[in-house]
Order: sequence, then C-alpha cells, then structure tokens
Amino acid sequence: MSLVSRDPILLTPGPLTTSLTTKMAMLRDWGSWDAAFNAVTAGLRRKLLEVVHAGAAHVVVPMQGSGTFAVEAAINTLVPRDGHVLVLINGAYGQRMAKLTQMMGRRVSTFVTAEDVPTTPADVDRLLAADPSITHVGLIHCETSTGILNPLKGIADVVAKHGRRLVVDAMSSFGALPIDAREVAFDAVIAASGKCIEGPPGMGFVIARRAALEAAGGNSSSLALDLHDQWAYMEKTTQWRYTPPTHVVVAFDAALDQFAAEGGQPARLARYTRNCEALTKGMAAMGFRPFLDPAIQAPIIVTFHAPVDAKYEFKAFYAAVRERGFILYPGKLTQVETFRVGCIGAIGPEEMTQAVHAISDALAGLGIREIAPRAAVRVA
Ligand SMILES: *Cc1c(COP(=O)(O)O)cnc(C)c1O
Repeated sequence: MSLVSRDPILLTPGPLTTSLTTKMAMLRDWGSWDAAFNAVTAGLRRKLLEVVHAGAAHVVVPMQGSGTFAVEAAINTLVPRDGHVLVLINGAYGQRMAKLTQMMGRRVSTFVTAEDVPTTPADVDRLLAADPSITHVGLIHCETSTGILNPLKGIADVVAKHGRRLVVDAMSSFGALPIDAREVAFDAVIAASGKCIEGPPGMGFVIARRAALEAAGGNSSSLALDLHDQWAYMEKTTQWRYTPPTHVVVAFDAALDQFAAEGGQPARLARYTRNCEALTKGMAAMGFRPFLDPAIQAPIIVTFHAPVDAKYEFKAFYAAVRERGFILYPGKLTQVETFRVGCIGAIGPEEMTQAVHAISDALAGLGIREIAPRAAVRVA
C-alpha cells in the first residue's frame, strides 16, 4: 500500500487530471439565479466562441450532463423531424451518434470504415452526390475509441459544396486541435467540460450556427435536451433553464482562463504533442506498437497492442500500473487486444515519462517479458 495519499494521474480521455487552480474553483457555492454566477456563464460562453474564432454568426449553448447529452441535444434540436443524417463511423463514438440519431426518430444512414481508416472527403462527396435526401452529416473529429483523426476541413468543404449541414462531435479535439469557424462551415461543434480544456466533467456545450439554431424551435422531441429552448431561455434570463452544475461551471471557467494563459489552442496542442511523443518513444523502447499509423494519430489518446505474453491480462496490468500512480484506459476494439493511454489533462512530458516507467515496472512485477510478437524464426 502506498504511504502517500495522492490521487493517481488519469491517463484517460476525460475525466482527466485537472490543475489545483481548477480543483480549488469548486470550493464555493453559487446561487443559480444569482447575477455573479450568471456572469460566469456569460463569460464562459464568450470564451468558448473565441476558441474556434467564431463571431456573431455563432452562439454557444451549454448543456448539463456528459458529452453525449450535448450530442443528443444538438442532433435532436438541429435536425428537423423529417431530416436525414449520414453518420460517418470509424469507432464507438460514431456508432453512438448513429444510435442516438435513430432513437431520436430521425432517419439515419451510416458510412463505416475500419477503425484505422479515416473517412475521406472523396467518400463524403460520393455519398452526398448519390443521395440528395441526406440533410445532415455527422462527423467524429477525433474518434477517441482509437485516437484516429478524421479530416474535418476537407469533409466540411464537401458538405458545404453539396449544400448540406455538418454536425461535428469535437469532444476529444476541441481546444487541442485547430477548428476555425471562419474557414470550416458547420451547424454544430460539440464538446464538453472534462476534455481538452481540462475542466471537471459535468457539462457539455454546442457551438451552433445562429441561423440554424434560430430555425430549430420545436424540433426537439425531448424537454430537458431541447437546445433551442435552453438557448432562448438563457438569452432572455441569463440563467440556465434547469439547475446548472454550478461547481463544474465555475471550475470549467477557471480552466478556460488557464487555457488562454497557456497560449490557447496552439500551446495546448504543442504540450499534448510533447506528451504523445514522450509516451510513444518510451513505449516503443519497451517493444510496444501503436495500433494506428502515426500519420492519422491525433496526440490525444494512443491505442497500443497488448503484450503478446501469455501472462498478460488487462485487469492485473491495470491494477499494477494504478498501484504505481497512473490510471490507464481499456481498449475499445473488437478485433484486437489493446489498451489506451491518454495524453491529455493538466500533465506534461515528465508525467508521461513517469507513466512509462510505471508501466515498465508493472510489467516486470507481473513477469511479462514478451511485448511484441517475436520475429518469425526460420530454421534452415
Ligand atoms: C468523451 C467523448 C464523448 C462523450 O462521452 P461521455 O461519456 O458522454 O462524456 C463523445 N464523443 C467523443 C469523441 C468523446 O471522446
């Protein structure tokens, strides 16, 4: 048992390790109708617009709950009841978007590529040309089930060319990878507090094209997840429609201030890139192979092939690494045995190097020696 009472570092794609400043922002109580709290909400909405260089043509609508609540609210509000959504899938979050779209009663088509194959603008061009009934395209920017990056700008251009609307789940990319509303046409970019802005989990938000949201009144089949109603009420009263997660909101706002102080999105991407490099270099030295080609790997979360050693079992490996202060993430692939290591959160390359040491030490403790498949030995 560890003698030090210390939280493990979360190498998971949300919740993630937050800074002390962010944690301390949660040590106060706020009245949800109080002007001081509503000023925080207003400031936070403004700061989120700036992250994607958006202006008066876009609005930020926060939504209580985890990221999926915000995705569901965006689809159910921005897609008319007789709309038809094409969801581009190469992992679990794409599958989830298709499922919730169907459950919201909208017509849905899917385009599925393998988990290590990004959707291309050419794919989308062909699919939209073939089916004029498609009104919206749903895209997962960084598919967190592997860490694969899908080409947002290219796909957005094709969707715009065909006069259709784009809904982007940017949950695990927002704040880290560039998204520029001046160059990328979208009806919605969706993310949440507990990802790359490094707040605590508990609220999502949708950056919506104002004209699209204005036209979306009455679309929602859900009361609580009606994004239009949430927006209209917030505009009118400055308050959240139902009880806001007050502590999460103020801590997320504090995280946004730290994000700006660090240098915004370019600085965050630079740090996560250094984290990812320290991780993959250290893991490679032990013999670990990443699942994805580096060319399509976002520096958000890395999927590694599990050790081939017969002694390997994820649960015991996870526990041994946790005992050494780091929390890993199980793989989410059906075909191959993997595990994932997040590069995001209030951590730097030093923590990643320590994590590599913890993994090495854990493997030694478990007697796991064979990491990669041995090169085939040919007997003459
Ligand atoms: C985290 C995440 C979500 C939201 O998941 P929740 O469990 O609802 O927070 C959605 N999409 C992607 C790509 C994510 O990484």
